[in-house]
Amino acid sequence: MQPRPFSQELIDRLAQAQSVAVLTGAGISAESGIATFRDPGGLWQQFKPEELANVRAFLGNPHLVQSWYTYRRNVAMEKAPNPGHEALAQLENLVPDFLLITQNVDNLHQRAGSTKITELHGNITHSYCIDCGKTATEQEMEPIASGTAAQCTACNGYIRPDVVWFGEMLPEGAMAQASHAAQRAEVFLSIGTSAVVYPAAGIPLVARDYGAYVAEINIEASAIAGSVDEVVLGKAGEVLPALVAAVEEKRS
Ligand code: NAD
Ligand code: ZN
Repeated sequence: MQPRPFSQELIDRLAQAQSVAVLTGAGISAESGIATFRDPGGLWQQFKPEELANVRAFLGNPHLVQSWYTYRRNVAMEKAPNPGHEALAQLENLVPDFLLITQNVDNLHQRAGSTKITELHGNITHSYCIDCGKTATEQEMEPIASGTAAQCTACNGYIRPDVVWFGEMLPEGAMAQASHAAQRAEVFLSIGTSAVVYPAAGIPLVARDYGAYVAEINIEASAIAGSVDEVVLGKAGEVLPALVAAVEEKRS
């Protein structure tokens, strides 16, 4: 048997905890084939995400930004959740008080079965009109593929993805929910996030300040690695199934 990359202490603490919170980032979806912002992204490599994911870019060229999100939505929808997403859906059933906080917008946690989830940055499967707020229909999105900007059929407003752009506020209540979960948590897992995008990056540190045992799971040490209790180096899709199986065995 291969040695475990995580400690017995982490297993024991997870097995005993009444309250666990988890933060995920783009890294947990990497093994599903969804590029993180640092990975090369083919056609879109010529743009920096920061150049497209903001309201100024959108108002300057709605069709360009809509096309980028259509591309990302299609990629996400044709990929499947991986064993890392699945293990977190299972962990939710083992712990009485659990919250999964995600920075991802790809909907893969939900597709893996997670239900106790707070999305900090929205979800690309939903789009709405910037003027009247109406949810966009598939039909309203169709012009994008043929080279024209998608507009609302009710008021002509441009349609935008329901995601948080650079410079925008997080959805109301999402950050409060995440902070409260971090404050309550006895164990906090930070998974597949470079921990450079605030305020999300500060959440594991809130957990630590309130006494949680904080473990990071990443293929390389992140920006907050020096401030956590344990750094587990490995792929989320390999580490998480092994960790959750060990916790389940200990809990039963
Ligand atoms: P990031 O791209 O900054 O960092 C990804 C992290 O994942 C890195 O630290 C990397 O070392 C790690 N990683 C890569 N493969 C891994 C694996 N197999 N297992 C474990 N860790 C792995 O992503 P971020 O921290 O989430 O922040 C960037 C922003 O980009 C977020 O706001 C997020 O909303 C957005 N984003 C989302 C998606 C998505 O929804 N899937 C994809 C790209 C970017
Ligand atoms: Zn409208």
